[in-house]
Amino acid sequence: MGNPQAAVRRAFAERFGRPPEGVWAAPARVNLIGEHTDYNDGFVLPVAIDRRVTVAAARRADDLLRLVSLEKGERRLRLAEVGPGAVRGWAGYAAGPVWALARDGAPVGGLDLVLTSDVPIGSGLSSSAAVECATLLAARDLYGGPADVARLAAIAQRAEHDVVGVPCGIMDQMAALACRAAHALLLDCRSLEADQVPFTPADAGLALLVVDTRVSHALADGGAYAQRRAACEQAARVLGVAALRDATQADLDAAGDRLGEVGYRRARHVVGENARVLAVAALLRQRRPEAIGEALCASHASLRDDYQVSAPELDAAVEAAVAAGALGARMTGAGFGGCALALVPAGAVADVAKAVAATFADRGFREPASFTVQPADGARRIA
Ligand code: ADP
Ligand code: MG
Repeated sequence: MGNPQAAVRRAFAERFGRPPEGVWAAPARVNLIGEHTDYNDGFVLPVAIDRRVTVAAARRADDLLRLVSLEKGERRLRLAEVGPGAVRGWAGYAAGPVWALARDGAPVGGLDLVLTSDVPIGSGLSSSAAVECATLLAARDLYGGPADVARLAAIAQRAEHDVVGVPCGIMDQMAALACRAAHALLLDCRSLEADQVPFTPADAGLALLVVDTRVSHALADGGAYAQRRAACEQAARVLGVAALRDATQADLDAAGDRLGEVGYRRARHVVGENARVLAVAALLRQRRPEAIGEALCASHASLRDDYQVSAPELDAAVEAAVAAGALGARMTGAGFGGCALALVPAGAVADVAKAVAATFADRGFREPASFTVQPADGARRIA
């Protein structure tokens, strides 16, 4: 996409007739492992990637928000008009964090803002949190506000809950804000304690390959996400625990028929997935990224068979990647579409991508988009 910082600066000057006061960037992420564990108070292991939203911004003397997305167009609204149910479309992701920052007590005013992004939109790589967090940091740095990362993540999440109207977990905002280059972020979704875990696949001769199935997860879900959440809450009630994070496989087996066949499977995924996250984090701490492939594959099988949130395209991507030499692969994100990730020997990346594309063509699926990603830094001011 050329140089995004130069692009937003140029567009800012053209549109607003002055230079921006600063430029900020926030990354997209892949979740290495830990799917559907966040709302069970469990563990996740996201990695920020080298795809990002870049924002140029400057304060205004009034409370106008003039928002330009080089991908989505221009919107203009007053900060006083922003609130639950009041903003339609993409502008909620940019105006929402400004509103939520003001609600947190910061002395926020109007903004001129231009953003651009090289994150695929709606593919499960969290383009949404990248927009939120880049905008939030811009508003915070220009007008003041908290420095604490967990508090900032909660502000961005509140924007998505209240202004956009999407009841998301906290992982995406924490990943966008707290991740570091050369690391994955082990996040305890109960305490929000975040540990940096070394993750440098390239040093081990490996690459992280993302396969975007280009099946929209938002369209394909159809209420299944809410159903899965409800099933987990029900299983936790049956087991007498606050959340499935507190259950063990022995608890599930002891519960017998009380969970029901489906409840048992949903809970077994969550319990197993939490254990896999911790096992993968331990391997990464031992600097053994080549050893995590099996856990990635086990995660996928569990999401496909027990949690039942995969899709034929995701299964095909995972099977083809592993058959062509990936050490492990899994769907990433909430499922029903979006992306798969594969851990691939660096020399086999082209072969794996080709094998996946060939399998998609054979099965009559839309052509996937495959690209490698590098662990990257979290949101920050870049100029
Ligand atoms: P994901 O976060 O997986 O990419 P979401 O549905 O959560 O998918 O968020 C996508 C939404 O985020 C888009 O529909 C749009 O409203 C907003 N968004 C993402 N990227 C941009 C962008 N470059 N410009 C404006 N809005 C964007
Ligand atoms: Mg999102």
